[in-house]
Formats: sequence, C-alpha cells, structure tokens
Amino acid sequence: MPTIVPYTFEKKEEKVIDFISLIKNMKVLIATEKPFAQKAVNGIKEILEAADMQVVLLEKYTDKAQLLEAVADVDAMIVRSDKVTAEVMDAARNLKIVVRAGAGFDNVDCCEAKRRGIVVMNTPGQNSNAVAELALAMMIFMSRNEFTPGTGSEIKGKTLAIHAYGNVGRLVGCKGKALGMNVIAYDPFVSDCNVFTCDGVEKVESLDELYSRADFLSLHIPATEQTKGSIGYELLTRMPKGATLVNTARKEVIDEQGLKRALAEREDLKYVTDVAPECAQELCECFGKRFFATPKKMGAETAEANINAGLAAARQIVDYFTTGNTRFQVNK
Ligand code: NAD
Repeated sequence: MPTIVPYTFEKKEEKVIDFISLIKNMKVLIATEKPFAQKAVNGIKEILEAADMQVVLLEKYTDKAQLLEAVADVDAMIVRSDKVTAEVMDAARNLKIVVRAGAGFDNVDCCEAKRRGIVVMNTPGQNSNAVAELALAMMIFMSRNEFTPGTGSEIKGKTLAIHAYGNVGRLVGCKGKALGMNVIAYDPFVSDCNVFTCDGVEKVESLDELYSRADFLSLHIPATEQTKGSIGYELLTRMPKGATLVNTARKEVIDEQGLKRALAEREDLKYVTDVAPECAQELCECFGKRFFATPKKMGAETAEANINAGLAAARQIVDYFTTGNTRFQVNK
C-alpha cells in the first residue's frame, strides 16, 4: 500500500504565497463516462479557470485504463456515476477532493478516501427536481398503460406513499399534492415533524403502514449497507390491489428475487424504475406492461440538473481550496 500524505488545508493556509501558487497549479479532472450537457461543461470550466485552476476533460471513456491515466496528476475530480475506487485513488497520487455532481455517492469508496485524507462531497438538492418530475411522469405512464391504447386510470385521488423524505422525496410529495394525490411519507431520520406538516403530508411511523396504504410507492432511500436489498416480497405484497412501485433511487435497494416472486404471485402489481434491475430482461418477458425500466438512468438527465449539479461541484472545489469549506463533505 503506498504511503499517502493527506492534504491539510490549515497547513497550507499558514503561508499565503505558497497557497496562491498551489491553487494556480491545481488540476481538476471532469471524468464523466456519461458526459454533462455542454453548457454545464462550459460553466464548470469558467468557474475553475476563474480561480486559475487547470481543467482536464475525460468524457465517454470506455476503459478503466483511460480513467487511471487521466487521474495521475490531478488534485480534484468531478464525477457523475463514475466509480472512484481504491484503484483509482492509487493512480491519483495528488488527489485531495472528489465531488460527485449529484446526490447519491455510493459510486465513491468513501471509507477508502477517508483513510487517505481525500475529501468526498456530493451536491445535494441540485438535481432533485429533475428526478421528482420523472417519478411523477412514471406514475402517469404506468397508469396509462405505457401510452398504448386502452382505458387507464388517473393519479388524482390516489395515495402516494413516499419512502424517504429527503430532497427528492419532498419534491415528489409536493408535486403529488398539486396533482390531487393523498400524500403520506415515512422517514425516521427526519425528526422535525414541521417538515411534513408544512407540506401538508401525513407522516407515518412504520414501513408496514406506508406500503399497505400505497397506491403508488415512490422510493427515495439511498443505497447503504442498511438499505441494500431491503425492499422485497414482504413489503411489496403488503401493497393494495393495483399498486405501483416507482424506483428512481437505486437498483441495489431492491431484493430482486423477492420482487420477482411478488410480481408473479400478484398479477395486479406493477414496477417502474429508472434504475434497471439485473433481471430486467426476464421481468420484461414475464410481466409485460406491469414492468418498465428506462434504458439508462435518466432521472438527472436534464440540462437544468446537469448545470445545477456541475456548477455546484465546481464552486465547492474552489471554496474548499480557498476557504477550507467542507459543508457538503460526506466522508467526515
Ligand atoms: P437526500 O439525501 O436528500 O435524501 C435521502 C433521505 O433518505 C433522507 O431524508 C434520509 O433521512 C432518508 N433515509 C436514509 N436512510 C433511510 C432509511 N433506512 N429509511 C428511510 N429513510 C432513509 O437524497 P435525495 O436527493 O432525495 O436522493 C435520494 C436518492 O435518490 C439518492 O441517494 C440517490 O441514490 C437517488 N438519486 C437517483 C437519481 C437518478 O438519476 N435516478 C438522481 C438523484 C438521486
């Protein structure tokens, strides 16, 4: 294992002249296998170059070796869903900060980064509206037989149950209310009940209750050791007749065997997802219009979300190097 000397902001700050020259020579890599919109790239460059940082762009790379080569001498990285593993950190000997332009940061090995003194940040809230709009669109899409002929149903008057009331969940709830839905939510980590009452959303105290009342269950939990594989047969079969599970969170939170069994036993259940399961092909073949997955994750794929998240990432990097601000650090 190579010896890694963590970057310490305080030490550099003591010498103002060193600090300025340090910033000037810093390299920031934008590594995006799935690129940002051009407008976002231009905005990111503008912010970083105004701080005298050098920008290196690696887009649409197809081989991990390209990423390993590109990180060799960079001080900072902006990534999207790109995997930042121990191997990438081994290759990036100068790396001090990784910013995941987005909410979920399960693509970055945060523990390994912490061990090496590398700061990991996300850009919370910057793409939430795009994801929330997609979640609502998916509900309507499934209610209208995937836009094929036949009598569908309306979402007005139905119960929308939100699993995790964070940035996306909250927006989905507000938009659902605007469409006339009855909104309930479960999030044991939101201790301030005013958050729910302000939005006119009923807080429920158990997952059993959430799932058993859900005409539409919108999933917004992060993929963590606790949540991976946690949504399976038991919860899904509690859902009322004709219910739809909507997943714009992560595929890993679903227990795929349990999902398959629930869909097979309950011919009324539907599953729509922005994060296709491993067994997507099989689900398509077995369950027809009761299952739909976007061909590629597209929740945050709007120009607005790209720009918001990309620019926030660039600002956070400049802020970190100039003031030491670690407000959005996720691996403290
Ligand atoms: P967020 O951090 O604002 O909210 C997450 C919420 O989950 C928090 O309120 C937290 O209290 C809650 N939570 C955590 N563990 C929980 C548990 N075990 N049970 C119940 N609640 C729990 O994140 P967000 O911006 O709302 O995004 C949510 C998730 O959506 C992200 O983690 C990411 O995986 C996914 N996402 C997907 C896309 C996409 O393109 N489809 C885009 C953005 C985010």
